[in-house]
This record gives sequence, C-alpha cells and structure tokens, in this order.
Amino acid sequence: MQIITEPRQMQAIAEKMRLNRQLIGVVMTMGALHEGHLSLVKLAQQTAGIVILTIFVNPRQFAENEDLHRYPRPFEQDVALAKAAGVDYLFAPESETLYPNNFQTTLKCGALVEQFEGERREGHFNGVATVVTKLFNITKPHIAVFGEKDAQQLAVIRQLVEDLNLDITIIGAPIIREENGLAVSSRNIYLSSEEHRAASVLFQAILHAKKRIAEKETDLQSVAAEIEEMIRSTPGCRPDYVAFVDEKSFKTALTAEKGEEYRLLLAAYSGSVRLIDNAKIRA
Ligand code: AMP
Repeated sequence: MQIITEPRQMQAIAEKMRLNRQLIGVVMTMGALHEGHLSLVKLAQQTAGIVILTIFVNPRQFAENEDLHRYPRPFEQDVALAKAAGVDYLFAPESETLYPNNFQTTLKCGALVEQFEGERREGHFNGVATVVTKLFNITKPHIAVFGEKDAQQLAVIRQLVEDLNLDITIIGAPIIREENGLAVSSRNIYLSSEEHRAASVLFQAILHAKKRIAEKETDLQSVAAEIEEMIRSTPGCRPDYVAFVDEKSFKTALTAEKGEEYRLLLAAYSGSVRLIDNAKIRA
C-alpha cells in the first residue's frame, strides 16, 4: 500500500491507472478506521480493481461548537488496518494542502439540507460536498462507496453527482452495528460504558418502528412520537429528531402508503454524545 499526501501525485497515479484501463474505487473517511469503514473497502474491492482510501478530517464540515480538535486521529493504526484490508493507495493530505490560504470556492447544497443534520449543523453539507468534489477530482474514481449510516450525506452526494454531471457510480453500503445494535462510529469512543449501553435504544427504536409498520400502522407521526418517548425514558438519553422521510427528497412523510419505502431518521444524545442512526422501512 502506498501512502500519498500530495494531490498532484495522487492525480498522476490515478490518471495512469485510468490509461491502463484499471477500474478505480474510492472510499472517503475521516480516519479512526473501524468495521464500518472496512466494509466499505470490501464493497469497493468487489467492483473496482484498485481501491483508494482517503483519510481527511475536513475542518470545513465541522461547525464552530463541534469536535474538530478532539476528533480521534490514530494514523499509525489506520495505516495498519488499511494495509491489512488490502487498500492499494491511502491518500491522506494535510489540511493546508487541500485548503491553501487563497482557497475561496465552496459548493452550496439546496433543499436536501434544509432539515435534520443540515439544519442542525450549519454549513456541514456545503463542506462535505466541497471536499468530496475535491477528492473526486484528485482520485478520479469510477465508483465511490459511501455508508448508509450517514443517509442524508449519501443523498446529498447522489444529488451532487447528478447535478454536476459527475461520471461516477455511487454505491451505498449497509450500516455495520455492534453486538448491542449500536451503529459503529468513530465517535462511539466518547461514550462511557453506561452511555454506550443506553445508546442501544436507537436500534431498539428501529426494531419498534419496523414492528409497528408491519402491524399495518399507517400514522408515521405517531410511530415517531412513540420512538421519541422510548428514547426520552431511557436514562441519560434524549431525542434530537425522529422522522420518517422520502428516501430521495428527504421530505417528511406523515402517512405510510402500502408498498412504499421510507427512511426512519434518528438523532439522539446519550449523555453529551450526539448519535445518528437510520433504517429503511417498507410499509
Ligand atoms: P466518517 O469517517 O465517519 O466520515 O465515515 C466515512 C464513511 O464511512 C461514510 O461513508 C460513512 O457513512 C461510512 N460509515 C461510517 N460508519 C459506518 C457504519 N457503521 N456502517 C457503514 N458505513 C459507515
């Protein structure tokens, strides 16, 4: 595995691979690699001959009050995990390399980011869209794998690719969970063992919603209210938002129509740690 930090060098390698008719897959991460990230690498390997993993803690997608400076950066461990997973190139630029002093162009997302994560995290998705576009231009992939764990982000990236005519196939990867159902996340290390145990309520809430919809409940708002109550009654936990949305538009859905698919979006705190989760639910 080759580690690359300079965009020009990564572009030259990617261009050469393209000329050799090699299929390039990219997986973008902020590092602190875990099973979720590695499942994305595996999925990329099933489609592409060459896999580039990027590690970049993108300052432009963190709001002022967020955890940019304490975000975990176990680089040596990440290198070992990426190597063991069979990654071909690890692209890990410095922040000053991607954002030199005269940097001034930022993408602006539309209606998709008006609610949920976009509403709560000022400028987050504009920062994501901008860095993802830069990393596409640097790694020149044919395919890119993103996790359903960040469902709104995946929708934003699909929209970005469509809107800007990017010639890249986006693959969504299923959520990898811990034994207690908690979605694996680099931020789970912030949880105390008690908060970690309590956080499994998010997965319990998803199971509850699936059961209620399977029982033919059509009032999605009342199912969402039941879930909020489940979270609120778990010690140390409080809901941020719970909503059923249309998968593509991310507009809130109030009533379940038979045969239709919805995405249940959850954000909640366990202690002071904010967690997100989601699931596709068919009525
Ligand atoms: P991050 O490093 O948190 O920015 O995540 C990098 C990529 O890994 C994103 O596409 C995430 O959606 C994906 N990802 C993070 N956690 C998981 C998980 N538990 N299961 C599947 N994909 C994940």
